Amino acid sequence: MSMQDVINSIEQRYPHQPEFIQAVKEVASTIQVVYDRDPNFAKYKVFERLTEPDRIISFRINWEDDEGNIQINRGWRVQFSNAIGPYKGGIRFHPTVNESILKFLGFEQIFKNALTGLPMGGAKGGSDFNPEDKSDNEIRRFCYAFIRELYHYIGQDMDVPAGDIGVSGKEVSYMFAMYKNLSHEYTGVLTGKGVGFGGSLCRSEATGYGAVYFLQNMLKARNDNIEGKTVLVSGAGNVAVHAAEKALALGAKVITLSDSKGTLYDELGFTQEKIDWVKQQKAARRPLFEYHREFGGLWIPGAKPWQFDGDIAIPCATQNEVTEEDARSMFEHGIRYVVEGANMPLDADAIDYVRAKKMHYAPGKAANAGGVAVSGLEMSQNSVRQYRTFEDVDQQLQIIMRNIHDDAAAAAAEYGFNCDECIDYMSGANIAGYNRVANALIAYGILN
Ligand code: GLU
Repeated sequence: MSMQDVINSIEQRYPHQPEFIQAVKEVASTIQVVYDRDPNFAKYKVFERLTEPDRIISFRINWEDDEGNIQINRGWRVQFSNAIGPYKGGIRFHPTVNESILKFLGFEQIFKNALTGLPMGGAKGGSDFNPEDKSDNEIRRFCYAFIRELYHYIGQDMDVPAGDIGVSGKEVSYMFAMYKNLSHEYTGVLTGKGVGFGGSLCRSEATGYGAVYFLQNMLKARNDNIEGKTVLVSGAGNVAVHAAEKALALGAKVITLSDSKGTLYDELGFTQEKIDWVKQQKAARRPLFEYHREFGGLWIPGAKPWQFDGDIAIPCATQNEVTEEDARSMFEHGIRYVVEGANMPLDADAIDYVRAKKMHYAPGKAANAGGVAVSGLEMSQNSVRQYRTFEDVDQQLQIIMRNIHDDAAAAAAEYGFNCDECIDYMSGANIAGYNRVANALIAYGILN
């Protein structure tokens, strides 16, 4: 079967899974060359195997709301591949969650986790539960109910979930407590736990910080640096605020953050005090537009941040938030670096546009791998029952992000994807991640 045949077959079997098809096509477009070079990839049907999850666990979650009514949600865990380590990936609670979204995220996670160089397979899970309009008590009851169902299928050596959109340290801690309760074991079954009961220092910061460390390496490869650059960030969640915080600490000026309701623009740039305010506001589930009362700035309802002049864009909100029109607006406003803090924030047309314009583009599976990398470090700390210091973990994170950058750049060069002005990180990241997993599958023969 050619790569195109595999895609055709996936499109036929899963026509209602557009996000998954989008993610598969993006990877396929860059690994045909690898396939062509070694006949074993076709013989062992590596791509066919990697595009079909090992299994999908789908379950009903019954829980009780504050009025005593029974509520019902759907939950899933997509265990995509454990070829190079236990299944690993976050849990997302958001009304848009469905099998397509979780399959795309789980598929991406295989390559992202492989790129970290740590022994972790790929998985993703979640529910269509919407935490936004729920009370704290309802969220707690839902987390307990979710793990009561998923409990049988996870374990420190089997599958290790973590957070994602709608699931932060608080929710992970509820889930961890329920697992501990049911299993009578204290193991590192989830990552992103609270610090002091198994959680790693620097885990909350890791995805955002890691994206900026990746950016530093991109700039360095072009004899440039981040100091004095103007940065547009979208999102105001965990990834966005920590990307903004690290960019600021390294001398950049960050002028936007956003959420689903609009964009916050501060032409003076966010200070640490302002970012701390945003963190507290979001933690208390209060609106971003109240910012102007404290610090001035501009709140633009319904807008995205890409209408402002800058050098670097770090989209950190959600999948497909950046369309071709947004990418054009970025280019016209001077943006030359696009670093994906979220998973697949650029849609397929936006990716084509930034590549055609030779903008420097870092795909999420490389640039946002810092979060899961520190999850990997949390797993090893739990296994040896020790804690590492913040500085130690942060140092290790910087090394991992540098290695991911260098591995992606080297793979792109090896397969002839780079041009004079640019490093093709998208192709390089796909190839470097793919090769690690593919080699394991070939070594195993027919078993996963
Ligand atoms: N949800 C994060 C991601 O997309 C982190 C996953 C993890 O730590 O397992 O990579």
